Amino acid sequence: MALELRPTCERCDRALPHQSTDAMICSYECTFCGPCAEAMQGVCPSCGGGLERRPARGTGQIADGREVPPADARAVAPSA
Ligand SMILES: [Zn+2]
Ligand SMILES: [Zn+2]
Repeated sequence: MALELRPTCERCDRALPHQSTDAMICSYECTFCGPCAEAMQGVCPSCGGGLERRPARGTGQIADGREVPPADARAVAPSA
């Protein structure tokens, strides 16, 4: 099973999309945003574990170096 990536911060309910690089996660998959993790000194309040930066999903590169969009990506609405 892949990690279940939670879509929001458990502390402030801020949206943390899978592509977010601002998400912090503990080994029990408690998920927090960067500012909350910082405010908690990088310690998960639920389990006491350390918070690590969650790897962004879906923005990685495949072997030949091409950037591929995630299959389930919802494109950000173009501003134009
Ligand atoms: Zn938060
Ligand atoms: Zn935790």
